[in-house]
Amino acid sequence: MERRRVVVIGSGFGGLFTTKGLADAPVEITLISKTVSHLFQPLLYQAATGILSTGEIAPATRDILRKQPNATVLLAEVTGIDLTSRMVTAEKLGHTITVPYDYLVVAAGAGQSYFGNDQFEIFAPGMKTVDDALELRARIFGALEMAELSDSEEERERLLTFVVVGAGPTGVEMVGQIAELTRDVLVRSFKRIDTRQARVVLLDAADAVLPGFTPKLSASAKARLEKIGVEVRLGARVTGLDETGVDVSFADGSTERIVASCKVWAAGVQASPLGKQLAEQSGGEVDRVGRVAVQPDLTLPGHPEVFVLGDMMSLDRLPGVAQVALQGGKYTARKIAGELAGQPVTEPFKYKDKGSMAVVSQFGAVAQVGKLSLTGFVAWAAWLGVHLVYLVGFKNRLSTLLKWAITFLGRSRSERVTTEQQLVGRLARKQLGDDFQPSIWATFDSDREQR
Ligand SMILES: Cc1cc2nc3c(=O)[nH]c(=O)nc-3n(C[C@H](O)[C@H](O)[C@H](O)COP(=O)(O)OP(=O)(O)OC[C@H]3O[C@@H](n4cnc5c(N)ncnc54)[C@H](O)[C@@H]3O)c2cc1C
Repeated sequence: MERRRVVVIGSGFGGLFTTKGLADAPVEITLISKTVSHLFQPLLYQAATGILSTGEIAPATRDILRKQPNATVLLAEVTGIDLTSRMVTAEKLGHTITVPYDYLVVAAGAGQSYFGNDQFEIFAPGMKTVDDALELRARIFGALEMAELSDSEEERERLLTFVVVGAGPTGVEMVGQIAELTRDVLVRSFKRIDTRQARVVLLDAADAVLPGFTPKLSASAKARLEKIGVEVRLGARVTGLDETGVDVSFADGSTERIVASCKVWAAGVQASPLGKQLAEQSGGEVDRVGRVAVQPDLTLPGHPEVFVLGDMMSLDRLPGVAQVALQGGKYTARKIAGELAGQPVTEPFKYKDKGSMAVVSQFGAVAQVGKLSLTGFVAWAAWLGVHLVYLVGFKNRLSTLLKWAITFLGRSRSERVTTEQQLVGRLARKQLGDDFQPSIWATFDSDREQR
């Protein structure tokens, strides 16, 4: 019998776990992703703050799948899905491919949302991609380098002010690390500036830090951040953001401009625009952040052959977390394999909540697992264990464990390489325009044709 064609879009948790789950099924899988790696987003902040290398948090997808003969990995950005002809179109550097499917799994995740203020992006990168992490690393360490160079008190103050917008887990983890770097880790590395003088600010329009956690854990996280010197400003809505600072409007009606050179945006998400395409073609719906409403079995209404997973799907108010995507991927693989084996899976997708965690400071975290609330070192150790388990690949786990031991016991940051290209790359691409394609591969192709 001819093997069924499965196209998987995305190499995140949803896409990868679907693909791995179909290893023994009679299918040919084409995994198309616009990035070469399986990115473990929860540890992006550690790449941005010099703890881990990008290779440790983003192993190559084709390496992970090299022993799976039925999976082909293609690096390309999917630009079109045609539900009628069952075709996916993808592009990379001027090359266009179309791939037919019998089953389609769409797990393209979510990007950063600036709530309609996209002009903020070049001044305050988000935390979604490897590029983001490297740019932020260059901005954080770069600001300190520039402060060391400067003779102007005013300029130093601007360079030594760090603002993180968004007090969810990403913002809290990021701001905690910046505080630790400036208060402790880097103090002796700089001679002309005292990094302890840095102002580290966390802003959020909500009235609590980590609003998804219990009030007790939120309060504990806030107190811990304040203890390590973070200025936590709640009820604080960002109304403007530019090269030199952030304009904030507070719940009590007051306003303030915080002069700061390094800003991080960790405040909102927007699902992949592929969701809108799917909804338009199927007559389905997308929610406020662009997630597609799916059936209880994760399929698109009217299209039992199309699955939408993870951060792109809207079902029962499930959160945008790794476990939803990972478990959705495993379920989808079971569903497709079951159907092909004549043993259809009839039960709906059931999410098992394994809890939420966030690291706040050195050896300090908060964790909520069912009714159990943990804080401090116990929560931190639990966080460490869980993240280690879900990192893909034994080598990665081992090197991450070693790096953590060196970092946390020796109080150093070994991944501090930054380049000017990382710092200005986003701006350069913006100036070249969204349609700009470097022609290096095209040149290579034409050379080959001539030979
Ligand atoms: C900074 C940060 C910290 C987080 N911390 C936690 C945490 O502590 N715990 C937790 O549970 N969750 C956390 N999350 C959320 C978690 O990472 C996501 O819920 C999860 O990654 C979603 O998986 P996914 O497969 O849906 O999407 P993703 O993992 O985002 O993967 C999407 C994939 O699609 C690809 N892609 C996108 N568009 C296209 C396209 N057009 N064509 C081809 N490929 C495309 C991308 O390259 C990527 O490979 C965090 C997220 C971030 C950003």
